[in-house]
Amino acid sequence: MSKKKDMASTFNNIKSEVLDSIDSFIYTKDLSGKYTYANQAILDLFEKNLTDVIGYDDSHFFDLAISRQLKINDDLVMNKAIRVESEEINFIKAKNETRIYKVVKKPLYRSDGSVDGMSGISTDITVEKKLQEQVSNQSHLLTTMLNNIDAHIYIKDCERTFLYVNSRVAELFGDKAENIIGKKDTEVLPKDIAEHFYQSDKQVFEKNQKQVIEETTHSKDGNTSHYISTKIPFNQPNKLPALIGFSSDVTELFKLKEEFKKLANTDPLTNLYNRRLFTEQAEKEYHRTKRYSLSLTVMTIDIDHFKSINDKFGHPAGDQVLIEVAKQLKANLRQIDILARIGGDEFFILLPETSATAGMKLAERIRTEQSNLKILGDWQGEIKLSVSIGVSSFISDDESFDTIFSRADKALYQAKNYSRNKVMYL
Ligand code: GH3
Ligand code: MG
Repeated sequence: MSKKKDMASTFNNIKSEVLDSIDSFIYTKDLSGKYTYANQAILDLFEKNLTDVIGYDDSHFFDLAISRQLKINDDLVMNKAIRVESEEINFIKAKNETRIYKVVKKPLYRSDGSVDGMSGISTDITVEKKLQEQVSNQSHLLTTMLNNIDAHIYIKDCERTFLYVNSRVAELFGDKAENIIGKKDTEVLPKDIAEHFYQSDKQVFEKNQKQVIEETTHSKDGNTSHYISTKIPFNQPNKLPALIGFSSDVTELFKLKEEFKKLANTDPLTNLYNRRLFTEQAEKEYHRTKRYSLSLTVMTIDIDHFKSINDKFGHPAGDQVLIEVAKQLKANLRQIDILARIGGDEFFILLPETSATAGMKLAERIRTEQSNLKILGDWQGEIKLSVSIGVSSFISDDESFDTIFSRADKALYQAKNYSRNKVMYL
């Protein structure tokens, strides 16, 4: 053998060894689709010897009714003489299973330039494809969930850049999610609102701990919204610290709570505070008065012979009288005073930072004004009334609000006994 032939043979041996050690499937076919070369990976896949592959076409190795793209690709390469890069889903008879391949197929030419056959490299990407599909399914599921959940969900880094917002956040900010992601909160929100949110964001970054926060926003059109927000640290390697925020709009719930609170503290007939609120506030004022050595005066007011008004004019007229009395009392008070209807025809007034003298003066004015009231309504004639008032003020010996209050109550009793339409102080 000549030296040249020797070298060519060595080179062919190396080539075949390399091709056989590759995991990809490497092959050539003639114009009729019969194999003219197949590497070891193909023989292993088909579970055949080389002699049982060379000279045979794909109908022996694949179910071509299922592996349709294989035939389409081969025809393109051989009939149209073009290079094809594609994916094939092929059913392999020997393995009795379907696999997915990434294929690169090219025409082989004769020396006159006409197509002689084709060569191909196919790589099994079944596992990657399945993983890709899983990831894509999970991502679709997650996106669907995040966009349909009744909460505002976002990811923001410590430099205030939004990394993610769900569709509820996009709706709230009035822009598309893709326009918000990548922007800082100050670029998407009014400055004061962005700042307000950032204050609680900062807590998450500083403490690196979950925070549950009540947040309130006031929009330009005067609407107030309330949110319960849970913010959790979200730290990824080689990325800026970030947080995931879940905010639920609890505005309706908040309003309902306020409404219940108001109902629980209000007398429905006069809209004044009730005993419960009065007692609560009185206790607070008593402690403040004692602590800062302030003055505090309390008044108990009871309509004289109210029963006879009811008897003479009827219960609805009595109700109207209670409303008018309440109105007149309120007109005489400051913002900080607490006026409450305690039940029946009895009212209490708490006058913070008010001396006994000032309290007595006010009580006298109330008594006079009430006796001048002439209440007209859906009844015969006008209703006239008078009130009796007991007044008492805080003295340093008082151990509790009750002690002041019981003096005022006693004073009212004395006023009733004395003559009615009377103010008494104890
Ligand atoms: P006195 O001068 O001693 O206070 O006499 P009075 O008639 O006002 O006596 P009393 O305080 O016992 O009577 C209060 C009456 O108020 C008895 C009750 O029928 C009536 N009353 C209680 N609550 C209401 C109400 O919501 N509406 C009306 N119209 N009457 C009420
Ligand atoms: Mg009465």
